[in-house]
Amino acid sequence: MDKNTRICIIGGGPAGLSAGMYLEQKGYENYTILERQDRVGGKCWSPHYNGRRYEMGAIMGVPSYYAVEDVEKFCGITHDGPKLNRNYKDGSGKVIEPFARTLGNIIRNPWLLKMKGQLTKFGELLETKYKGYDVNGHRGVAEGRYDGYAVTPGREKIEGENPNLKDLALPFKQFCEMNGVPLVQKIWIGPFTSFGYGYFDEIPAAYVLKYLDFQTCMNFVKVNLWTWKDGTQYIWEQLNDHLKHPARLNSTIEKVERKDGKVFVTVNGEVEEYDKIIVTAPLYIPNKRADGQKGMVEYFDAREDELELFSKIDYERYDVQAFLTDPDKHPEISYYVFDNMVPEKLGHLMVYYRRWKDQIDQVITTYALRKHKNSEEIPYEECRQMVQDDLVTMGNPAKEIINEWSVYYFPHVFTEDYAAGWYDKVEAMQGKYDTFYAGEVMSFGDMDETAEYSRELVDRFF
Ligand SMILES: Cc1cc2nc3c(=O)[nH]c(=O)nc-3n(C[C@H](O)[C@H](O)[C@H](O)COP(=O)(O)OP(=O)(O)OC[C@H]3O[C@@H](n4cnc5c(N)ncnc54)[C@H](O)[C@@H]3O)c2cc1C
Repeated sequence: MDKNTRICIIGGGPAGLSAGMYLEQKGYENYTILERQDRVGGKCWSPHYNGRRYEMGAIMGVPSYYAVEDVEKFCGITHDGPKLNRNYKDGSGKVIEPFARTLGNIIRNPWLLKMKGQLTKFGELLETKYKGYDVNGHRGVAEGRYDGYAVTPGREKIEGENPNLKDLALPFKQFCEMNGVPLVQKIWIGPFTSFGYGYFDEIPAAYVLKYLDFQTCMNFVKVNLWTWKDGTQYIWEQLNDHLKHPARLNSTIEKVERKDGKVFVTVNGEVEEYDKIIVTAPLYIPNKRADGQKGMVEYFDAREDELELFSKIDYERYDVQAFLTDPDKHPEISYYVFDNMVPEKLGHLMVYYRRWKDQIDQVITTYALRKHKNSEEIPYEECRQMVQDDLVTMGNPAKEIINEWSVYYFPHVFTEDYAAGWYDKVEAMQGKYDTFYAGEVMSFGDMDETAEYSRELVDRFF
């Protein structure tokens, strides 16, 4: 492609900004990033409180976040944040040690003895039967192929046939049961469901395992994690500052028309002309959202295939509240509440996060899901109250809520559409209308998978 190609990128989150970085590194400097909000970072949002920053969105990374590392190197920054640690409580607020192999625990939870064996077996299965399961993106999976970058320091491109990969379309619960390793769900659930990515009986195994490949999951288990002192938003603010063309904030896109090999974008009342467009903003939002976000099909001259495919996308209703406590009610550490990570406990507090160990006049954040594929969505206010009540039960009641949001989170498709080749159909459309699709739904809703997808998109098409 001509290096002077005029490229419009929609969205100044990790996917859009890293697309800018990778384009620039490949010699494409004629790009424009349009961001609707007055800040960059998207779901990496780290507001200030009392001299520090807390996390309303993304919190952590792991040592296999190679694309995030690319960004760190590009900007000369590193992961310099507070060390993470956590304990566990049951639904009644009692501190527990669910994985300790004490006599009492083993009598209560006889499965503990079998767990290690299943974990080893699972690791072996992923390496052999499911070889290629962890490459970035979903191209080929439904057809029993893998094609993408490996999760290794060199990130070499690998490609091959593996019919077993078709199993990844199954909900993770079914996938584990079919492979005789149901107990591994008890390990994967912590960094999956409580992080807002849905329940194992509804979410295809592909999403679970591309994010939590074996190595990444073990990093969570061993708390071998990265954070950033000034928050994850800082990574993307830094990247924005280091780009030749920082994102244009407060850009309201009214219309996008693609005709005669050009892309016409009406932004803040003016029509701008481009050759190509990369969409990292939501492709489809099935309901009306209070924050005014819309799917691209609503402001683009969407074509039939775009409408048909993107209407299959659903997303998680994931709510975050930031609160202050009285000093004597401040939690001594972050807590996971495993009892609340099942669909029967929809809307309840699953995890709460104490970021600053050395300061008790800082913010604590809570996380809850309020939608499951097979049940009624819990209204926002109701869920908010449930979480507040749970904090009382946990012994850490909120004195004041200082921030809250309900996020457009983890767009994905379900088993039937995944198995029917949704990803291959969308991948075949890349570039068709001078339009490229990137961001969370194309890979997975975390910082690294989205940035890595942008890297591959730039490599493949530009
Ligand atoms: C509570 C929470 C916890 C999380 N924890 C982690 C974590 O610990 N680790 C991790 O790796 N990830 C985590 N994530 C996920 C991570 O933040 C996202 O996966 C990542 O930010 C996705 O990047 P993106 O660029 O694809 O999308 P986004 O971050 O959503 O960015 C999209 C951008 O597009 C903009 N936009 C939308 N519509 C338009 C439009 N019409 N015109 C112009 N701009 C538009 C948005 O304003 C936004 O800035 C978390 C997220 C949340 C909310």
